[in-house]
Order: sequence, then C-alpha cells, then structure tokens
Amino acid sequence: MALQRPVIFLGPPGAGKGTQAKRLSAHYGVPHLSTGDMLRDHVHRGTELGKKAKPIMDRGDLVPDDVVLGIIEDRVAQEDCARGFVFDGFPRTMPQALVLDQVLEKKHFPEPLVVNFHVDYDELLHRVSGRWMCSVNGEIYNIYEKPPKVKGLCDKCGGKLIQRSDDRVDVVRDRLAAFAKQTQPLIDYYRSKGDLNEIDGAASVEEVARRLEEIVARHGSDGHRPQR
Ligand code: AMP
Repeated sequence: MALQRPVIFLGPPGAGKGTQAKRLSAHYGVPHLSTGDMLRDHVHRGTELGKKAKPIMDRGDLVPDDVVLGIIEDRVAQEDCARGFVFDGFPRTMPQALVLDQVLEKKHFPEPLVVNFHVDYDELLHRVSGRWMCSVNGEIYNIYEKPPKVKGLCDKCGGKLIQRSDDRVDVVRDRLAAFAKQTQPLIDYYRSKGDLNEIDGAASVEEVARRLEEIVARHGSDGHRPQR
C-alpha cells in the first residue's frame, strides 16, 4: 500500500522518532526529513546558518523558527518530496506548525498523518545520555542497554563511536525542557484537528514499528483536504 500523506513524528528527544522515521521512509520510498540532521549538516559544513545554529543546539535550545522554516520550505519543494515525506523533529513550535499547514495546503498535499511518541522522562534521559553513534556507518548504540562488544568501537565496522555534543546529560535536561515548553502544545493542536495518533515509544523497536504499520494501514491514505 502506498503512503499518500506526509507524516509528522512528534515526541521528545530519545522517543525513537529517528529510528522509526528511517524505517518508514525506506519502506515507502519517501524522504526522511530530520531538521536535526539538516542542521547538524550545516554545522559540519561550517555554513553561515550552521555557525548561527551551533551554539543554540549545543545548549539544548531550539533554533529560531525562520531558520528552520527556510530549510524545510526549500527541502519540500524538491522533486523527491512530491510523493510525500516523513518529518522527524519538525514542527517543534506552534509557529512552525501553522506555517507548515500553509505550505502543505499551497502545494496541495493531503493533511498530514501525525504520530505522537510517549516515553517517561527518566527513560528518555537514560536513552539519550547513553547514546553513542558509529562515526562511519551511523549505527546507534546505548552504553547501558546495547553496548558495543569493544568499548568505543562499532561492532559492524570497527569505526570509532562518538557522542553528540547535545546528548550529554545536562544538555539533554535542557532539550527535554524545551520540548515540554515549546513542542508539547502541538500535541493538543493536532489532537483538536483530529489528526493525532498515539504510540507507546517505550515498547521495543519492532513493536513500535508494528503499531506504526497499523496506523499507516488505517490512515495512510485518507486526509483529503476539504473543499474551500
Ligand atoms: P534533534 O536531532 O531532532 O534532537 O535536534 C537537535 C537540535 O537541533 C535540537 O535540540 C534543536 O536545537 C535543533 N532543532 C532540530 N529541529 C528543530 C526544529 N524543528 N526547530 C528548532 N530547532 C530544531
């Protein structure tokens, strides 16, 4: 079955949005649009935007809406997004959600399918502050739950494991506070529009993927825009 609606994954850092977004986008052959990855790419390349974003990201705050919206508007205008996409980590504020509504409507996309991932605060802290990633192939480890066989090295390719600078426990607390303050209101917004699907993000990766498949099977092709 085709995925006919853009998908939005809402949820705090560490809820499993990235893992599931990668799987879903690969399964349906649509792009995975992670604003966090796009911003990290700018930081890595040392662009003006990256230089502006880096200190904000390093302290766990949100990058200004106009910066993120600029990146997203350019990205969804590209050819490969014509058949839909999976948003991971966007929108994260009410202004972003309202502009996104306008962009989707202007480009004649159906209403988005929104999935909200819940996970307890302590579990999130544990997941994110224990997260290390292979610098070569991007494989994710958790030093508490899924440690590599050899400390600091990837099981698959022997690449060096690195920790994101904003995954340190003090910054994770600030990222979770930013989520509670700025992103939580979006849950009510999408719920009031009747677009919200809830997922228990504490379940295993396979169980969350199975539940997501059910949601997509049930709602992945509705979301027609009402005639105005
Ligand atoms: P993530 O990889 O999604 O956890 O994002 C990492 C960081 O990038 C966040 O802590 C923010 O500083 C920034 N960021 C990512 N997406 C957004 C967004 N939609 N709005 C504002 N800042 C964002």
